Amino acid sequence: MGYKKVCLDCRKAFNRPINMEKVHISICPQCKKPMTELYHLFQPPKQTDIKKWEVVNFLVENGFKYYHIWEQVFKNEKGEICGTANYAKYPQSMKDAKEFVELYKEQAITE
Ligand SMILES: [Zn+2]
Repeated sequence: MGYKKVCLDCRKAFNRPINMEKVHISICPQCKKPMTELYHLFQPPKQTDIKKWEVVNFLVENGFKYYHIWEQVFKNEKGEICGTANYAKYPQSMKDAKEFVELYKEQAITE
């Protein structure tokens, strides 16, 4: 488990040092804007692969920061979650990303 600090503007990812436990805002060394923290499922695309970065941007904006998403969520009669199955794969194309956001919007975390 780990995090990556990512600058979506510069399309750069930095590994987060293990000994940093305090929450604070990290600043991109290049553009000086606050960076986004993404979870361990994130694999940075090549810096030149703008289309893939657009997908990353889109997912993050919609509350999917590369933590595990369940492919199936089971609910009881009261609508409470009583079980989950299979991790969903994060999409690589914008078309798939739009479907993903729609399909799993209940699992998005937006602050
Ligand atoms: Zn930057």
